[in-house]
Amino acid sequence: MQNLIIRNGLIVTAERQFEGDIRIRGDKIVEIGRDLPRREGDERELDAQGLLILPGGIDPHVHLTLPESVPATDRWVDDLTSGSKAALAGGITTVGNISFPQPGETPLATLKREIKLVQQQAIADVMFHPVLLPPIEAAIRELPQMVAAGHTTIKVFMPMEEFDQHVLAYLAALQAAGEMGILTMIHCEDWAIISATSQALLAEGRGSLRYYAESRPVVSEVVATQRAVAMCEATGVPIYVVHLSSERALRVCEEAQARALPVYVETRPLYLHLTQERYLDPGGAVYVGQPPLREAHDVAALWEGLARGTIHTVATDHAPWTREQKLDPALNVANLRPGTNELQVMLPMLYSEGVRKGKISLAQFVALTSTNAAQLFGLYPRKGTIAVGSDADLVLWDPTESRVVRGSGLFSRAGFSIYEGAEVTGWPRITIRRGQVVYKNGRITAQPGSGQLVQRGGTTGPAKAEK
Ligand SMILES: [Zn+2]
Repeated sequence: MQNLIIRNGLIVTAERQFEGDIRIRGDKIVEIGRDLPRREGDERELDAQGLLILPGGIDPHVHLTLPESVPATDRWVDDLTSGSKAALAGGITTVGNISFPQPGETPLATLKREIKLVQQQAIADVMFHPVLLPPIEAAIRELPQMVAAGHTTIKVFMPMEEFDQHVLAYLAALQAAGEMGILTMIHCEDWAIISATSQALLAEGRGSLRYYAESRPVVSEVVATQRAVAMCEATGVPIYVVHLSSERALRVCEEAQARALPVYVETRPLYLHLTQERYLDPGGAVYVGQPPLREAHDVAALWEGLARGTIHTVATDHAPWTREQKLDPALNVANLRPGTNELQVMLPMLYSEGVRKGKISLAQFVALTSTNAAQLFGLYPRKGTIAVGSDADLVLWDPTESRVVRGSGLFSRAGFSIYEGAEVTGWPRITIRRGQVVYKNGRITAQPGSGQLVQRGGTTGPAKAEK
Protein backbone atom coordinates (compact mmCIF):
# COMPACT_ATOMS: atom_id res chain seq x y z
CA MET A 1 0.00 0.00 0.00
CA GLN A 2 1.31 3.45 -0.93
CA ASN A 3 0.34 6.89 0.18
CA LEU A 4 -1.24 8.52 -2.82
CA ILE A 5 -2.44 11.81 -4.22
CA ILE A 6 -4.93 11.71 -7.07
CA ARG A 7 -4.89 14.97 -8.99
CA ASN A 8 -7.12 16.89 -11.37
CA GLY A 9 -10.10 14.57 -11.63
CA LEU A 10 -13.77 15.49 -11.52
CA ILE A 11 -14.85 14.15 -8.11
CA VAL A 12 -18.41 12.82 -8.26
CA THR A 13 -20.62 11.90 -5.32
CA ALA A 14 -24.37 11.46 -5.06
CA GLU A 15 -24.53 15.06 -3.74
CA ARG A 16 -22.05 17.09 -5.77
CA GLN A 17 -19.36 17.26 -8.43
CA PHE A 18 -16.19 19.31 -8.22
CA GLU A 19 -12.65 19.36 -9.53
CA GLY A 20 -10.00 18.56 -7.01
CA ASP A 21 -7.29 16.38 -5.54
CA ILE A 22 -7.62 13.53 -3.06
CA ARG A 23 -4.93 12.60 -0.54
CA ILE A 24 -4.89 8.98 0.66
CA ARG A 25 -2.98 7.68 3.67
CA GLY A 26 -3.07 3.93 4.10
CA ASP A 27 -6.63 2.80 3.43
CA LYS A 28 -8.38 6.14 4.10
CA ILE A 29 -9.06 9.45 2.38
CA VAL A 30 -7.43 12.12 4.58
CA GLU A 31 -7.79 15.30 2.54
CA ILE A 32 -9.77 16.65 -0.41
CA GLY A 33 -9.15 20.04 -2.05
CA ARG A 34 -7.76 22.09 -4.94
CA ASP A 35 -4.01 21.91 -5.64
CA LEU A 36 -3.07 19.95 -2.53
CA PRO A 37 0.60 20.58 -1.68
CA ARG A 38 2.90 17.62 -1.74
CA ARG A 39 3.68 16.60 1.83
CA GLU A 40 6.15 14.33 3.50
CA GLY A 41 4.91 10.78 3.12
CA ASP A 42 3.24 11.28 -0.27
CA GLU A 43 4.81 8.52 -2.29
CA ARG A 44 2.90 8.47 -5.51
CA GLU A 45 0.72 10.71 -7.64
CA LEU A 46 -1.94 9.69 -10.13
CA ASP A 47 -3.08 12.17 -12.73
CA ALA A 48 -6.83 11.92 -13.29
CA GLN A 49 -7.05 14.70 -15.89
CA GLY A 50 -10.11 14.05 -18.06
CA LEU A 51 -11.37 11.28 -15.78
CA LEU A 52 -14.23 11.06 -13.31
CA ILE A 53 -13.40 9.97 -9.77
CA LEU A 54 -16.29 7.90 -8.44
CA PRO A 55 -16.81 6.11 -5.13
CA GLY A 56 -16.07 2.40 -5.54
CA GLY A 57 -19.15 0.54 -6.72
CA ILE A 58 -21.06 -1.54 -4.19
CA ASP A 59 -22.89 -4.49 -5.70
CA PRO A 60 -25.03 -5.88 -2.89
CA HIS A 61 -26.19 -9.00 -4.75
CA VAL A 62 -23.79 -11.59 -6.19
CA HIS A 63 -23.39 -15.37 -6.12
CA LEU A 64 -19.74 -16.32 -5.72
CA THR A 65 -19.95 -19.19 -3.22
CA LEU A 66 -21.89 -22.43 -2.81
CA PRO A 67 -21.78 -25.10 -0.11
CA GLU A 68 -19.66 -28.13 -0.92
CA SER A 69 -22.81 -30.27 -0.86
CA VAL A 70 -23.87 -28.83 -4.26
CA PRO A 71 -22.69 -31.16 -7.08
CA ALA A 72 -20.14 -29.92 -9.63
CA THR A 73 -22.61 -29.78 -12.53
CA ASP A 74 -24.90 -27.44 -10.60
CA ARG A 75 -22.23 -24.97 -9.51
CA TRP A 76 -21.85 -21.52 -11.03
CA VAL A 77 -18.33 -20.96 -12.21
CA ASP A 78 -16.98 -17.90 -10.37
CA ASP A 79 -15.59 -17.89 -6.86
CA LEU A 80 -14.52 -14.95 -4.69
CA THR A 81 -11.27 -14.65 -6.69
CA SER A 82 -12.57 -14.60 -10.27
CA GLY A 83 -15.65 -12.71 -9.09
CA SER A 84 -13.45 -10.11 -7.36
CA LYS A 85 -11.40 -9.63 -10.52
CA ALA A 86 -14.54 -9.09 -12.59
CA ALA A 87 -15.92 -6.70 -9.99
CA LEU A 88 -12.77 -4.59 -9.65
CA ALA A 89 -12.25 -4.41 -13.42
CA GLY A 90 -15.85 -3.21 -13.62
CA GLY A 91 -15.45 -0.48 -10.98
CA ILE A 92 -17.00 -2.42 -8.07
CA THR A 93 -14.94 -2.58 -4.88
CA THR A 94 -17.44 -4.24 -2.51
CA VAL A 95 -19.72 -7.20 -3.21
CA GLY A 96 -22.58 -8.61 -1.16
CA ASN A 97 -22.67 -12.37 -1.49
CA ILE A 98 -25.78 -14.50 -0.98
CA SER A 99 -24.64 -17.31 1.32
CA PHE A 100 -26.53 -20.60 1.12
CA PRO A 101 -26.44 -22.95 4.09
CA GLN A 102 -25.42 -26.58 3.99
CA PRO A 103 -28.45 -28.73 4.84
CA GLY A 104 -29.47 -27.96 8.45
CA GLU A 105 -26.84 -25.25 8.93
CA THR A 106 -27.77 -22.09 10.86
CA PRO A 107 -26.75 -18.58 9.63
CA LEU A 108 -23.81 -18.24 12.03
CA ALA A 109 -22.38 -21.58 10.90
CA THR A 110 -22.82 -20.53 7.26
CA LEU A 111 -21.07 -17.23 7.94
CA LYS A 112 -18.19 -18.91 9.76
CA ARG A 113 -17.61 -21.23 6.80
CA GLU A 114 -17.80 -18.46 4.21
CA ILE A 115 -15.65 -15.92 6.08
CA LYS A 116 -12.73 -18.34 5.69
CA LEU A 117 -13.19 -18.07 1.92
CA VAL A 118 -12.69 -14.29 2.05
CA GLN A 119 -9.31 -14.80 3.68
CA GLN A 120 -8.32 -17.29 0.97
CA GLN A 121 -9.94 -15.90 -2.17
CA ALA A 122 -11.30 -12.35 -2.05
CA ILE A 123 -9.68 -9.30 -3.63
CA ALA A 124 -12.76 -7.08 -3.47
CA ASP A 125 -14.28 -6.39 -0.04
CA VAL A 126 -17.15 -8.68 0.84
CA MET A 127 -20.33 -8.69 2.91
CA PHE A 128 -22.51 -11.75 3.36
CA HIS A 129 -26.27 -12.24 3.30
CA PRO A 130 -27.15 -15.62 4.86
CA VAL A 131 -30.17 -17.34 3.33
CA LEU A 132 -32.86 -18.07 5.88
CA LEU A 133 -34.09 -21.66 5.64
CA PRO A 134 -35.87 -23.84 8.21
CA PRO A 135 -35.42 -24.30 11.12
CA ILE A 136 -36.29 -20.57 11.22
CA GLU A 137 -36.62 -20.46 15.02
CA ALA A 138 -32.97 -21.46 15.40
CA ALA A 139 -31.97 -18.72 12.98
CA ILE A 140 -34.01 -16.10 14.88
CA ARG A 141 -32.12 -16.98 18.07
CA GLU A 142 -28.84 -16.17 16.30
CA LEU A 143 -29.85 -12.72 15.02
CA PRO A 144 -28.41 -10.76 18.00
CA GLN A 145 -25.04 -12.45 17.55
CA MET A 146 -25.14 -11.67 13.83
CA VAL A 147 -25.69 -7.97 14.56
CA ALA A 148 -22.90 -7.98 17.13
CA ALA A 149 -20.54 -9.45 14.52
CA GLY A 150 -21.55 -6.85 11.90
CA HIS A 151 -23.75 -9.00 9.67
CA THR A 152 -26.92 -6.99 9.19
CA THR A 153 -28.83 -8.70 6.37
CA ILE A 154 -30.72 -11.90 5.72
CA LYS A 155 -32.08 -13.27 2.44
CA VAL A 156 -35.49 -14.86 2.00
CA PHE A 157 -36.73 -16.74 -1.08
CA MET A 158 -40.50 -16.67 -1.61
CA PRO A 159 -40.46 -19.00 -4.66
CA MET A 160 -39.30 -21.91 -2.47
CA GLU A 161 -41.81 -24.38 -1.09
CA GLU A 162 -40.23 -23.89 2.35
CA PHE A 163 -41.46 -20.31 2.42
CA ASP A 164 -45.12 -21.20 2.05
CA GLN A 165 -44.72 -24.04 4.55
CA HIS A 166 -43.30 -21.72 7.22
CA VAL A 167 -44.84 -18.30 6.55
CA LEU A 168 -45.57 -17.58 10.21
CA ALA A 169 -41.96 -18.27 11.18
CA TYR A 170 -40.65 -16.15 8.28
CA LEU A 171 -42.90 -13.28 9.36
CA ALA A 172 -41.50 -13.55 12.90
CA ALA A 173 -37.95 -13.60 11.51
CA LEU A 174 -38.56 -10.53 9.37
CA GLN A 175 -39.94 -8.63 12.36
CA ALA A 176 -37.19 -9.73 14.77
CA ALA A 177 -34.52 -8.92 12.18
CA GLY A 178 -35.93 -5.49 11.36
CA GLU A 179 -36.24 -4.52 15.01
CA MET A 180 -32.50 -5.20 15.40
CA GLY A 181 -31.51 -3.17 12.30
CA ILE A 182 -31.13 -6.22 10.06
CA LEU A 183 -32.44 -5.67 6.52
CA THR A 184 -34.40 -8.54 4.96
CA MET A 185 -33.74 -9.06 1.24
CA ILE A 186 -36.70 -10.79 -0.40
CA HIS A 187 -36.98 -12.60 -3.73
CA CYS A 188 -40.58 -11.90 -4.69
CA GLU A 189 -42.10 -14.62 -6.86
CA ASP A 190 -44.98 -16.86 -5.84
CA TRP A 191 -44.09 -20.52 -5.42
CA ALA A 192 -47.55 -21.98 -6.05
CA ILE A 193 -48.26 -20.00 -9.22
CA ILE A 194 -44.86 -20.75 -10.72
CA SER A 195 -45.12 -24.44 -9.87
CA ALA A 196 -48.59 -24.78 -11.36
CA THR A 197 -47.73 -22.81 -14.51
CA SER A 198 -44.50 -24.70 -15.11
CA GLN A 199 -46.13 -28.08 -14.60
CA ALA A 200 -48.95 -27.15 -17.01
CA LEU A 201 -46.43 -26.12 -19.67
CA LEU A 202 -44.51 -29.38 -19.23
CA ALA A 203 -47.75 -31.36 -19.54
CA GLU A 204 -48.56 -29.54 -22.80
CA GLY A 205 -45.14 -30.33 -24.23
CA ARG A 206 -44.11 -26.67 -23.92
CA GLY A 207 -41.56 -27.10 -21.18
CA SER A 208 -38.59 -25.84 -23.18
CA LEU A 209 -36.95 -22.59 -22.15
CA ARG A 210 -38.47 -20.88 -25.19
CA TYR A 211 -41.52 -20.67 -22.90
CA TYR A 212 -39.58 -19.48 -19.87
CA ALA A 213 -41.27 -16.06 -19.62
CA GLU A 214 -44.71 -17.69 -19.66
CA SER A 215 -43.65 -20.13 -16.92
CA ARG A 216 -43.12 -17.32 -14.40
CA PRO A 217 -45.83 -14.77 -15.24
CA VAL A 218 -45.83 -11.18 -14.01
CA VAL A 219 -48.73 -11.96 -11.67
CA SER A 220 -46.49 -14.33 -9.67
CA GLU A 221 -44.13 -11.42 -9.05
CA VAL A 222 -46.97 -8.99 -8.33
CA VAL A 223 -48.68 -11.14 -5.72
CA ALA A 224 -45.40 -11.98 -3.98
CA THR A 225 -44.41 -8.30 -3.94
CA GLN A 226 -47.81 -7.40 -2.48
CA ARG A 227 -47.30 -10.04 0.17
CA ALA A 228 -43.81 -8.77 1.03
CA VAL A 229 -45.15 -5.21 1.26
CA ALA A 230 -47.95 -6.46 3.52
CA MET A 231 -45.37 -8.07 5.79
CA CYS A 232 -43.48 -4.78 5.90
CA GLU A 233 -46.67 -2.87 6.70
CA ALA A 234 -47.85 -5.34 9.35
CA THR A 235 -44.51 -5.42 11.17
CA GLY A 236 -43.25 -1.89 10.51
CA VAL A 237 -39.79 -3.13 9.50
CA PRO A 238 -38.00 -2.45 6.21
CA ILE A 239 -37.82 -4.84 3.27
CA TYR A 240 -35.46 -4.85 0.29
CA VAL A 241 -37.03 -6.34 -2.84
CA VAL A 242 -34.28 -7.96 -4.92
CA HIS A 243 -34.16 -8.01 -8.74
CA LEU A 244 -37.55 -6.42 -9.39
CA SER A 245 -38.41 -7.00 -13.06
CA SER A 246 -41.87 -5.71 -13.96
CA GLU A 247 -43.79 -2.45 -14.14
CA ARG A 248 -46.70 -3.87 -12.13
CA ALA A 249 -44.45 -5.04 -9.28
CA LEU A 250 -42.78 -1.62 -9.29
CA ARG A 251 -46.19 0.06 -8.95
CA VAL A 252 -46.87 -2.10 -5.88
CA CYS A 253 -43.66 -0.83 -4.29
CA GLU A 254 -44.26 2.78 -5.32
CA GLU A 255 -47.75 2.69 -3.81
CA ALA A 256 -46.18 1.46 -0.56
CA GLN A 257 -43.44 4.11 -0.68
CA ALA A 258 -46.08 6.80 -1.21
CA ARG A 259 -47.53 5.69 2.14
CA ALA A 260 -44.04 6.09 3.68
CA LEU A 261 -43.47 2.37 4.12
CA PRO A 262 -39.77 1.39 4.18
CA VAL A 263 -39.85 -0.59 0.92
CA TYR A 264 -36.53 -0.56 -0.95
CA VAL A 265 -36.14 -1.80 -4.48
CA GLU A 266 -33.30 -3.32 -6.47
CA THR A 267 -33.31 -4.10 -10.16
CA ARG A 268 -30.69 -5.80 -12.27
CA PRO A 269 -29.08 -5.10 -15.66
CA LEU A 270 -30.91 -7.90 -17.45
CA TYR A 271 -34.24 -6.09 -17.08
CA LEU A 272 -32.84 -2.73 -18.21
CA HIS A 273 -31.25 -3.95 -21.43
CA LEU A 274 -33.26 -6.94 -22.74
CA THR A 275 -36.83 -8.16 -23.34
CA GLN A 276 -38.45 -11.59 -23.38
CA GLU A 277 -38.26 -12.13 -27.17
CA ARG A 278 -34.64 -13.14 -26.51
CA TYR A 279 -35.86 -16.55 -25.26
CA LEU A 280 -36.97 -17.31 -28.83
CA ASP A 281 -33.42 -16.85 -30.16
CA PRO A 282 -31.39 -19.96 -30.94
CA GLY A 283 -29.60 -20.53 -27.62
CA GLY A 284 -32.03 -18.14 -25.92
CA ALA A 285 -31.71 -20.16 -22.71
CA VAL A 286 -28.55 -18.17 -21.91
CA TYR A 287 -30.85 -15.31 -20.87
CA VAL A 288 -32.61 -17.29 -18.13
CA GLY A 289 -32.67 -15.52 -14.77
CA GLN A 290 -35.30 -15.31 -12.05
CA PRO A 291 -37.70 -13.57 -12.67
CA PRO A 292 -37.70 -13.79 -16.49
CA LEU A 293 -37.15 -10.96 -18.95
CA ARG A 294 -40.27 -8.88 -19.44
CA GLU A 295 -41.69 -6.52 -22.09
CA ALA A 296 -40.59 -3.14 -23.47
CA HIS A 297 -43.02 -1.21 -21.25
CA ASP A 298 -41.47 -2.90 -18.20
CA VAL A 299 -37.99 -1.83 -19.32
CA ALA A 300 -39.21 1.75 -19.73
CA ALA A 301 -40.90 1.70 -16.30
CA LEU A 302 -37.71 0.47 -14.62
CA TRP A 303 -35.61 3.24 -16.17
CA GLU A 304 -38.22 5.75 -14.98
CA GLY A 305 -38.06 4.17 -11.52
CA LEU A 306 -34.30 4.69 -11.47
CA ALA A 307 -34.73 8.34 -12.43
CA ARG A 308 -37.60 8.93 -9.97
CA GLY A 309 -35.74 7.30 -7.10
CA THR A 310 -38.35 4.61 -6.45
CA ILE A 311 -35.72 2.02 -7.39
CA HIS A 312 -32.75 2.42 -5.07
CA THR A 313 -30.06 0.06 -6.35
CA VAL A 314 -28.90 -1.69 -9.49
CA ALA A 315 -27.21 -4.97 -8.57
CA THR A 316 -25.82 -7.65 -10.83
CA ASP A 317 -27.24 -10.82 -9.26
CA HIS A 318 -24.06 -12.17 -10.91
CA ALA A 319 -24.49 -15.95 -11.13
CA PRO A 320 -22.30 -17.06 -14.02
CA TRP A 321 -22.45 -20.34 -15.94
CA THR A 322 -20.65 -21.43 -19.06
CA ARG A 323 -22.60 -21.40 -22.31
CA GLU A 324 -22.60 -25.23 -22.26
CA GLN A 325 -24.12 -25.25 -18.77
CA LYS A 326 -26.81 -22.76 -19.78
CA LEU A 327 -27.68 -24.66 -22.97
CA ASP A 328 -27.79 -28.11 -21.34
CA PRO A 329 -30.72 -29.88 -23.10
CA ALA A 330 -31.79 -31.43 -19.78
CA LEU A 331 -32.94 -27.99 -18.59
CA ASN A 332 -36.58 -26.89 -18.85
CA VAL A 333 -39.02 -24.49 -17.18
CA ALA A 334 -38.98 -26.58 -13.99
CA ASN A 335 -35.25 -27.38 -14.00
CA LEU A 336 -33.17 -24.22 -14.29
CA ARG A 337 -29.70 -22.81 -14.05
CA PRO A 338 -30.71 -19.20 -13.52
CA GLY A 339 -28.25 -16.34 -13.63
CA THR A 340 -25.80 -14.49 -15.86
CA ASN A 341 -22.32 -13.00 -15.98
CA GLU A 342 -22.69 -9.28 -15.20
CA LEU A 343 -20.08 -8.04 -12.73
CA GLN A 344 -17.56 -6.51 -15.11
CA VAL A 345 -20.00 -4.82 -17.46
CA MET A 346 -22.84 -3.63 -15.21
CA LEU A 347 -21.45 -0.16 -14.43
CA PRO A 348 -20.16 0.57 -17.95
CA MET A 349 -23.50 -0.47 -19.49
CA LEU A 350 -25.53 1.54 -16.97
CA TYR A 351 -23.31 4.54 -17.63
CA SER A 352 -23.44 4.10 -21.40
CA GLU A 353 -27.18 3.48 -21.66
CA GLY A 354 -28.27 5.58 -18.68
CA VAL A 355 -26.01 8.60 -18.17
CA ARG A 356 -24.85 9.12 -21.74
CA LYS A 357 -28.38 8.78 -23.11
CA GLY A 358 -29.81 11.13 -20.48
CA LYS A 359 -32.05 8.61 -18.71
CA ILE A 360 -30.32 9.12 -15.36
CA SER A 361 -27.93 11.77 -14.08
CA LEU A 362 -24.32 11.15 -13.09
CA ALA A 363 -25.31 11.77 -9.46
CA GLN A 364 -28.04 9.15 -9.76
CA PHE A 365 -25.57 6.71 -11.32
CA VAL A 366 -23.36 7.05 -8.23
CA ALA A 367 -26.34 6.77 -5.88
CA LEU A 368 -27.71 3.67 -7.62
CA THR A 369 -24.40 1.84 -7.81
CA SER A 370 -22.73 2.85 -4.56
CA THR A 371 -24.21 5.39 -2.14
CA ASN A 372 -27.70 3.94 -1.69
CA ALA A 373 -26.33 0.44 -1.16
CA ALA A 374 -23.86 1.77 1.41
CA GLN A 375 -26.73 3.38 3.32
CA LEU A 376 -29.08 0.41 3.06
CA PHE A 377 -26.44 -2.15 3.98
CA GLY A 378 -24.94 -0.30 6.95
CA LEU A 379 -21.68 0.83 5.31
CA TYR A 380 -22.19 4.58 5.01
CA PRO A 381 -20.15 6.85 5.17
CA ARG A 382 -17.23 4.45 5.47
CA LYS A 383 -18.06 3.37 1.93
CA GLY A 384 -20.37 4.75 -0.77
CA THR A 385 -18.98 8.28 -0.91
CA ILE A 386 -15.80 10.32 -1.33
CA ALA A 387 -15.15 12.10 1.95
CA VAL A 388 -12.41 12.66 4.51
CA GLY A 389 -12.37 9.62 6.78
CA SER A 390 -14.00 7.29 4.25
CA ASP A 391 -12.29 4.19 2.88
CA ALA A 392 -10.26 5.07 -0.20
CA ASP A 393 -12.43 2.97 -2.53
CA LEU A 394 -12.25 4.92 -5.78
CA VAL A 395 -12.72 4.41 -9.48
CA LEU A 396 -10.93 6.55 -12.04
CA TRP A 397 -13.51 6.42 -14.79
CA ASP A 398 -12.86 7.26 -18.42
CA PRO A 399 -16.16 8.66 -19.73
CA THR A 400 -14.99 8.57 -23.35
CA GLU A 401 -13.49 5.11 -23.75
CA SER A 402 -15.54 2.88 -26.06
CA ARG A 403 -15.23 -0.89 -26.08
CA VAL A 404 -17.17 -3.71 -27.62
CA VAL A 405 -18.19 -6.34 -25.05
CA ARG A 406 -16.41 -9.65 -25.68
CA GLY A 407 -17.18 -12.32 -23.10
CA SER A 408 -13.95 -14.18 -23.75
CA GLY A 409 -11.99 -11.11 -22.63
CA LEU A 410 -13.79 -10.72 -19.29
CA PHE A 411 -12.47 -12.00 -15.96
CA SER A 412 -15.51 -14.18 -15.21
CA ARG A 413 -15.00 -17.88 -15.89
CA ALA A 414 -18.34 -17.91 -17.72
CA GLY A 415 -16.36 -17.29 -20.89
CA PHE A 416 -19.20 -15.43 -22.60
CA SER A 417 -21.49 -12.46 -22.11
CA ILE A 418 -25.16 -12.10 -22.92
CA TYR A 419 -24.23 -8.61 -24.18
CA GLU A 420 -21.68 -9.95 -26.69
CA GLY A 421 -21.00 -7.29 -29.33
CA ALA A 422 -22.57 -4.37 -27.47
CA GLU A 423 -20.68 -1.11 -27.94
CA VAL A 424 -20.27 0.53 -24.56
CA THR A 425 -18.78 3.93 -23.74
CA GLY A 426 -17.42 4.71 -20.26
CA TRP A 427 -15.09 2.27 -18.48
CA PRO A 428 -12.96 2.17 -15.35
CA ARG A 429 -9.30 2.88 -16.03
CA ILE A 430 -7.99 2.43 -12.48
CA THR A 431 -9.72 0.94 -9.44
CA ILE A 432 -8.47 1.62 -5.92
CA ARG A 433 -9.67 -0.52 -3.00
CA ARG A 434 -8.85 0.81 0.47
CA GLY A 435 -5.95 2.86 -0.89
CA GLN A 436 -4.43 0.10 -2.99
CA VAL A 437 -4.42 0.20 -6.79
CA VAL A 438 -6.07 -3.14 -7.52
CA TYR A 439 -6.90 -2.73 -11.23
CA LYS A 440 -4.97 -0.77 -13.82
CA ASN A 441 -4.57 -0.95 -17.60
CA GLY A 442 -6.67 -4.09 -17.87
CA ARG A 443 -4.78 -5.99 -15.17
CA ILE A 444 -5.56 -6.98 -11.58
CA THR A 445 -2.69 -5.87 -9.38
CA ALA A 446 -3.64 -7.33 -5.96
CA GLN A 447 -3.61 -10.82 -4.52
CA PRO A 448 -6.43 -13.13 -3.40
CA GLY A 449 -6.88 -12.72 0.35
CA SER A 450 -6.34 -8.94 0.23
CA GLY A 451 -10.11 -8.39 0.19
CA GLN A 452 -11.74 -7.99 3.58
CA LEU A 453 -14.95 -8.95 5.25
CA VAL A 454 -16.77 -5.67 5.90
CA GLN A 455 -18.47 -5.37 9.26
CA ARG A 456 -21.60 -3.35 9.12
CA GLY A 457 -24.00 -1.31 11.20
CA GLY A 458 -27.76 -1.22 10.88
CA THR A 459 -29.66 -0.18 7.78
CA THR A 460 -30.57 3.44 7.04
CA GLY A 461 -32.77 4.62 4.20
CA PRO A 462 -31.08 6.15 1.16
CA ALA A 463 -31.11 9.87 0.47
CA LYS A 464 -32.44 10.99 -2.91
CA ALA A 465 -29.95 11.98 -5.62
CA GLU A 466 -31.08 14.87 -7.81
CA LYS A 467 -31.75 14.46 -11.50
ZN1 LIG B 1 -29.64 -13.79 -6.59
